[in-house]
Amino acid sequence: MKADWDESCDVLVVGSGAGGMAAAITAADAGLSVRMVEKTDRIGGSTAISGGAIWAPNNAQSARVGHPDTPERVRAYMRAVVGDAAPQALQNAFLDAAPAMVAWFEEHTEVQLAGRTYSPDYYPDREGAAHGGRSLDPLMFDGRRLGRHFAELRDPLPEFMVLGGMMITMTDVRHLLAVTRSFASWREGMKLVMRYFADRLRGYHRGTRLVLGNALAARLFRSLLDRQVPYWLNSPVRELLRDGHRVGGALVERDGRLVRVRAQRGVVLATGGFPWGKELRQAHYPQPTGAWSMAPTGNAGEGIAMARSVGAAMGQGHVSPAFWAPVSILKRPDGSELRYPHLVWDRAKPGLMAVNGAGERFVNESASYHDFVSGMYDSHRRTPTFPAYLICDADFVERWGLGLALPGGRPREHLVRAGYLYRADSLADLATQLGLPGQALQASVTRFNHWAELGRDEDFGKGSTDYNRYLGDPDHQPNPCLGPIRRGPFHAVKVYAGDIGTALGIACNEQAQALDTAGQVIPGLYMAGNDMHSVMGGEYPAPGITLGPALTFGWLAGRHLAQNQPQTVA
Ligand SMILES: Cc1cc2nc3c(=O)[nH]c(=O)nc-3n(C[C@H](O)[C@H](O)[C@H](O)COP(=O)(O)OP(=O)(O)OC[C@H]3O[C@@H](n4cnc5c(N)ncnc54)[C@H](O)[C@@H]3O)c2cc1C
Repeated sequence: MKADWDESCDVLVVGSGAGGMAAAITAADAGLSVRMVEKTDRIGGSTAISGGAIWAPNNAQSARVGHPDTPERVRAYMRAVVGDAAPQALQNAFLDAAPAMVAWFEEHTEVQLAGRTYSPDYYPDREGAAHGGRSLDPLMFDGRRLGRHFAELRDPLPEFMVLGGMMITMTDVRHLLAVTRSFASWREGMKLVMRYFADRLRGYHRGTRLVLGNALAARLFRSLLDRQVPYWLNSPVRELLRDGHRVGGALVERDGRLVRVRAQRGVVLATGGFPWGKELRQAHYPQPTGAWSMAPTGNAGEGIAMARSVGAAMGQGHVSPAFWAPVSILKRPDGSELRYPHLVWDRAKPGLMAVNGAGERFVNESASYHDFVSGMYDSHRRTPTFPAYLICDADFVERWGLGLALPGGRPREHLVRAGYLYRADSLADLATQLGLPGQALQASVTRFNHWAELGRDEDFGKGSTDYNRYLGDPDHQPNPCLGPIRRGPFHAVKVYAGDIGTALGIACNEQAQALDTAGQVIPGLYMAGNDMHSVMGGEYPAPGITLGPALTFGWLAGRHLAQNQPQTVA
């Protein structure tokens, strides 16, 4: 169908997360006219609420931070973890391009990153694994540098901010918890808090010291503004439009009317996958599934549906359709829900145990969030495991907190009243509250405490790998992840099979061009971020394995668009 166009550009980018912004910046930098459209009223998507870790192995910083890497080692690791779950050509394209992508962004844009000095891959015992250097974090960004556009950047998750709007990293948390014990921590804590209050006095709606994924989104956004890329907020794309045999534009809803935007070189769909696309989720997620995703609700699978409507094929061979994370849910008095992802803070600490509906352990609690939920699905085949229960004692909650329950004597009554946090003086009472068999729970705790005393979990291996121990308590010996559950009141939260985004997406080639069911390129159509079938095939090898590929394939798409003139169509 030939459309009468209202607007025209070289490249139309749909979605303003890491995938979309990487493609837009790269294409604009090459001199193309780019327009970006975003469905919601904010820039940044999941990227802006994420941890911001970027897995880009063999990058130039690896050696500088003490972890020299080689392509052979990385390939061996990918073979050991991803194997045939994703096409080999795509894996090679990612591994070849990721270091160059990081170097390009660092040289040309505001996207400045720091290699992690210690951050084990999630399977540190497999061939080719590394203990640092492969994952990078965005450097802190001063939100004031966005000027009036700061208000357009998606806010981080409220549960990852303190004092109603101050962002903090894991290092900041450690300082804040130690302010009364260490002068250095007191000084760091004071600096953070003073800066935050100064921001609020100046009228900012939240702190402007941006870290984690919010810093990444802000850095990408700044780079986009520097190139004067026009963008429309509140402008969902409704339909792809053809121009002859190629995808040549899209129908964008803007200010209540439909605008036909021509994209002479191509359209990049980067709408963040389908974590909130109910039908796609029902069709592709294992059962049970529910409204448990941590992604913004706007990520509803629209990009994937539009790509399929022009003949694009879904990827195949993946082991899992999503990247999982155990999630606990607080129901607020107004009926809304607050979801908390148990990613890296509480599960691996000594003194926390997870059980299924039979009151029995079923998983290594310090495994990655993805493997923890895979363990829930495995267990559920035999025993009800939705929800699963995280159990700990009074000392644990005081020291580490549990989900939304904060440590250090902070008020928790409201969480107990809301039915989020369960608390009981005895394990028997806790079991009754949770509806678990009391004797089984008691037996599980006794056995868990035995492993804690031994320092070795012979059932599930809690604390058995360097990655497990990295997230444990380094001061706790002999095993940083194993401690007893002993002193009441005992506490619990329920967790569900949440996700941080989808892995199943549209099959693409090495330039991020969408493919049809015959494996042929659909001219003019590119996919980026989670709209593209994951190069990890639904495996989760390391921190940052969605943002690394999102940036890399967005960058490759932008370069390909810049290098390739579209064929003239009559
Ligand atoms: C709590 C949390 C922590 C995470 N931590 C990490 C981490 O540390 N490292 C990592 O690699 N990954 C992490 N992730 C996952 C990561 O954030 C996502 O995989 C990634 O941001 C996806 O990028 P994207 O560009 O595909 O989509 P997004 O960043 O979600 O952007 C998609 C955008 O498209 C917009 N959109 C949707 N439909 C339309 C439409 N029809 N028209 C126009 N726009 C549309 C959406 O509103 C959204 O703004 C985390 C996720 C969460 C939730």
